[in-house]
Amino acid sequence: MKKVQTIASVAFAMLLSAKSYAQYSSTPPAVSPMPMKPEMTEIWEPEVTVVTPGKTSADAPSDAIILFDGKDLSQWVSAKDGSPAPWLVIDGRMEVVPKTGDIKTKLKFGDCQLHIEFSAPDEVAGVSQGRGNSGVFFQDRYELQILDSYQNRTYRNGQAGSIYKDTAPLVNAMRGPLEWNTYDVIYTAPRFKPDGRLDYPARITVLHNGVLVQNNTTILGLTNYIGLHMYPEAHGEDVIHLQDHGNKTQFRNIWIRRL
Ligand code: MG
Repeated sequence: MKKVQTIASVAFAMLLSAKSYAQYSSTPPAVSPMPMKPEMTEIWEPEVTVVTPGKTSADAPSDAIILFDGKDLSQWVSAKDGSPAPWLVIDGRMEVVPKTGDIKTKLKFGDCQLHIEFSAPDEVAGVSQGRGNSGVFFQDRYELQILDSYQNRTYRNGQAGSIYKDTAPLVNAMRGPLEWNTYDVIYTAPRFKPDGRLDYPARITVLHNGVLVQNNTTILGLTNYIGLHMYPEAHGEDVIHLQDHGNKTQFRNIWIRRL
């Protein structure tokens, strides 16, 4: 009997996915193809994996990879040459050492959930793009901008929470420079066809301090400073990198989950 139910559940799941669009289209919904019982729409296997969540949103869940826990930069190297990451670790945070260059993870990632906390430099200096500039690059290419956007105008698609020069954030949720900000990100990597052409662009959802600023946004391509954004070549998983833009931006509590 259980086997029959399982087969019925699988058949129903297939039907659901096939019907999911039609269900919401203007066509009237189809009548169930057969008389149905409650258990025929229950899917039991495989059981959903148990993950222990953190006590707060800053704590990593049990299946996360910790990229920075306040102690050392062992998960990071210099983006230039792979030598030990040259940034400072002090009082449980890491801080950009200007002019030492970007840092990148040792591990490579594709689809992921990332939690990262950052604070603009304590000393407010510079204007527009010159104030508290850094960034998180997914797959070494697509920048979620970090900037001190607290009372600091710049182009809207270049402020904190923007996909750099691609898409402005929905709102400006930036805290002052003596406070910590969080980004919680759901990132879906681009997909490429066998011949290397783009199949699906990358997508990204970002919560900035718990406020939705990117809602399943399409990333239009490499987030270049100059020129239009596009996908010039196929690529697979790649590193996360953090930008040294000459400002002493600080980071803490960085964790990631592969999706
Ligand atoms: Mg930047």
